[in-house]
Amino acid sequence: MAAQGLKKTIVLKGIGVSPGVACGKAFPIDHRPITIPYIEISDRDFLEKEVARFIRALDSSTAELEAIKNKLDAEEGIGPLIIEAHVMILRDTGFIRSTIETIRKRGINAEWALELTLSRYRDVFGRMEDVYLKDRIRDVEDVVHRVLRHLLGAGGEAISDIKEEAIIVAHDLSPAETVQMKGKNILAFATDVGGKTSHTAIVARSLSIPAVVGLENITKKVRKEDKLIVDGTSGVVIVNPDQETVRRYEDKKRHYRILEEDFIKGAGLPAVTKDGRGIGVGANIEFVEEIPSAIYHGANGVGLFRTEFFYVNREQSPTEEEHYEHYRIVVENKDIKWATFRTFDLGGDKFISDPRLAEEMNPAMGLRAVRYCLREPDIFEVQLRGILRASAHGNTGIMIPMISGLEEILEVKKIIEKVKDNLRARRIPFNEGIKLGIMVEVPSAAMVADALAREVDFFSIGTNDLIQYSLAIDRVNEHVGYLYRPCHPAVLRLIRYVVEAGHRAGIKVAMCGEMAGDPFCTMLLLGLELDGLSMTPLAIPLVKRIIREATMEEAKKLVNHVMGFDRTDQIEEYIKDYMRRRFPDYCAVADVE
Ligand code: PEP
Ligand code: MG
Repeated sequence: MAAQGLKKTIVLKGIGVSPGVACGKAFPIDHRPITIPYIEISDRDFLEKEVARFIRALDSSTAELEAIKNKLDAEEGIGPLIIEAHVMILRDTGFIRSTIETIRKRGINAEWALELTLSRYRDVFGRMEDVYLKDRIRDVEDVVHRVLRHLLGAGGEAISDIKEEAIIVAHDLSPAETVQMKGKNILAFATDVGGKTSHTAIVARSLSIPAVVGLENITKKVRKEDKLIVDGTSGVVIVNPDQETVRRYEDKKRHYRILEEDFIKGAGLPAVTKDGRGIGVGANIEFVEEIPSAIYHGANGVGLFRTEFFYVNREQSPTEEEHYEHYRIVVENKDIKWATFRTFDLGGDKFISDPRLAEEMNPAMGLRAVRYCLREPDIFEVQLRGILRASAHGNTGIMIPMISGLEEILEVKKIIEKVKDNLRARRIPFNEGIKLGIMVEVPSAAMVADALAREVDFFSIGTNDLIQYSLAIDRVNEHVGYLYRPCHPAVLRLIRYVVEAGHRAGIKVAMCGEMAGDPFCTMLLLGLELDGLSMTPLAIPLVKRIIREATMEEAKKLVNHVMGFDRTDQIEEYIKDYMRRRFPDYCAVADVE
């Protein structure tokens, strides 16, 4: 490819996790752990220079925080208060004196002295009983990190520093950081690590921000202000593209827009196959602000509201009143026929401020979701009260994540009964017939689906985790991304088993993992007889169109055929070929190559 000016064009291939094309300037954010140098200094003059260097780094960090605070001052919420607290730590005389004394007495460099100050703070905070106070060590760590970056000349830019349109380039982004992109001028992002079903990727899709992850070393190849093209549909990032490439991608962008507009036209029509089977198509959302987009893209309801994002980037858990008002906005919307609120699924690769969770060795298999709720019933009950109260205003369901066996759902049901009694005693209205369902996303739950089906009103299969746990693949690890195969025969057999168990017990079985929104799998899922599919709003128009043009007869035939294969690649090849012949135009849009 030709070079643009003096800068070399580089094409990088990663995993496209949020579709769309963006073209803009790079804004690198670097928060990889810093290597702290240890230097012994014997010369007194040099030690004083070290002290002066430390004070300069404190001043620059304070000025940086003041600038951020001025920008945030007009905003409500916790942001300005956190910045204020960080400035106070920077000005704390104990913090400053302790570091300066360590430089002088031990004859060492400022970075190492600062690290020793931090470890003393860690000891003090670690001995505190109160979980909230104990957790404040995170603020001290953030402040120390900022000062270290200034000492090492590494800069400290963050998402909150972005003023103009930009493409974020980072080693990794947490879901909490990705949420901060909401309403900012972020055109796209590209990261070294990550996987398609990580929560960072899910948030990117919900915010309609094109994203490519798993690029391995983009942070080493991109400098601030480099021009980038991010193609989140095909997983390509082009650094310093020439004019011709930019034109080609602008065309591609237009092309997607035209096709999307075409699909949107039929998005409101019902998802009914040609031979009359209706499928409930819902939207997966994380924020109430996504509701207009869900409706625009043709969702009949909300099949999965990931409520844990309501807990993100705040110091205190939401109150009952906040939950209630929040969920009420969803259920009262006249275009939303039903809304399923998944109780909070914190832990795993998501945000959590509880240090007991943060320190777990393997959080995906740790104190996550319902396990955390049963450990902390007080927090759980607050949310349940909020959902139950919202149920008085519209068709509402409660869905419990990460159920692994019967005991857990029985315990949850007891808690729900207690919460209902409490509301009855307070004469607060709620829907007595509110539906209770579970996510089937742990293989053990799938295997005892018959027993679980007797206890609940519906199932929703969470393939993101079901695949992660049944195939033993970390969903956020780009190195094993190639093993993440929804069409693995084991996954298909588990899905079929769960659907059959649910139907035998007379309950509906839906799917809300990312597989539900993959048009390549739509015929397969129809043939597996799922009753509902819930997906990211952007995926709805195409999936609905395929459903409307299909028959159950052909879908079942396809399933019968592929269930005879033992190998994933045979199944994938067969389906790809089938879909390409059956829906050639749609496959072009969905990048089924
Ligand atoms: C799933 O696991 O498939 C799912 C929908 O839940 P989450 O992606 O939030 O874990
Ligand atoms: Mg899950």
